[in-house]
Amino acid sequence: MIRSAFQYMYDAYGNTFLDAYNNIPHVGHSHPKVVAAGQKQMAKLNTNTRYLYDLLPEYSEKLLSIFPDSLNKVYFVNSGSAACDLAIRIAYAHTKHKKLMVMEHGYHGHTQIAIDISDYKFNNRKGQGQKDYILKTQIPDTYRGKYTTNNDSAGKMYAMEAIEQIETSDSPIAAFISEPIVGCGGQVPLDDGYLKEIYPAIRKQGGVCISDEVQTGFGRLGDYFWGFEAQEVVPDIVIIGKPMANGHPMGAVITTSEIAESFSKGVEFFSSFGGNPVSCAIGLSVLEVIEEEKLQENAKNVGDHYKLLFKDLQKKYNCIGDVRGSGLFLGVEINKDNCMTPDKELAHLIKNELRNKNILVSTDGPFDNVIKSKPPLCFTKENAQLVVNQIEKILQTYYNKE
Ligand code: PMP
Repeated sequence: MIRSAFQYMYDAYGNTFLDAYNNIPHVGHSHPKVVAAGQKQMAKLNTNTRYLYDLLPEYSEKLLSIFPDSLNKVYFVNSGSAACDLAIRIAYAHTKHKKLMVMEHGYHGHTQIAIDISDYKFNNRKGQGQKDYILKTQIPDTYRGKYTTNNDSAGKMYAMEAIEQIETSDSPIAAFISEPIVGCGGQVPLDDGYLKEIYPAIRKQGGVCISDEVQTGFGRLGDYFWGFEAQEVVPDIVIIGKPMANGHPMGAVITTSEIAESFSKGVEFFSSFGGNPVSCAIGLSVLEVIEEEKLQENAKNVGDHYKLLFKDLQKKYNCIGDVRGSGLFLGVEINKDNCMTPDKELAHLIKNELRNKNILVSTDGPFDNVIKSKPPLCFTKENAQLVVNQIEKILQTYYNKE
């Protein structure tokens, strides 16, 4: 790749690609306002965060204004992994407990702590295995799991099983961390009512609840700015990253005054680059563009349309087992015809054939059979139509050959 603009990327051979996968350039690749904000600030002042500059409180206040009132303290770092690591340290400092509850197939980053709490990594064939201070709970997957959408209260039933784990834990749990839609699990949304049951149970035994919004935050889900809103809960700690600065490395931990106060009693927190003037200028411009270009609304309108197109395709092709997700964060599960057996080969064929047609998506999930689409939020209905039309063509060719 040599250049990019909004939802398009251009390679060294003169090809144009539609990027239906990349959620980091959230408001669009090389968005001119974001680029200008970074360039301007870099030419003016960039410094180690030991110094004082207005952009830090200005950006912090704007960012915190999008959170519920109780979440009113922010720490800036340079990645989702660093945010995750810091969030766990903060949870330890506040609760004085050591055990952590995590979700099956969850992913939270690459630091040692992040790997320890990421089933997607520690449970990999080549992974380190589950550490003894980790308690893992099953993913509330209503498609492949134990309780399915046929059951109105599936979310609650999964939650009841998790609560039993909490109540029978040999030691108190410091924190429970989950993503609102489990990306590496294959875009699996937490079923309705799930967190509403679990959060009080974690708090009751002295722990805190962390929402990992690294993938789902900043309006991507359409109906909500943050994923936890869909579950009608307010976490104690939120971690953000990836889309926050449109590709510039930035992450943050947001928490309550009470938890921040506990953390401040320990050794001082310091990050050389986290929240530097250039990062703040870029972060601020991203928030402005989301507002000015009504990108959350676009994620909702285009996302709903995109999902419907996939659902229509599902009616024609039995290999599409499930279409799920919200806004511009979708997953399409590919199975062997008329059954629940995952078809990784077909999912990969679709992904690779799309790439040959200059459209970029990816696959994920425990069977690697879920097509993932999470494009920049400037994605259009025409872009969505193109992706689905091309998948249809690929499937037509595939079935004609069989
Ligand atoms: N949390 C989630 C949900 C993620 O998807 C990722 C990255 N894929 C991270 C945390 C870690 O972020 P980073 O790679 O920016 O450190």
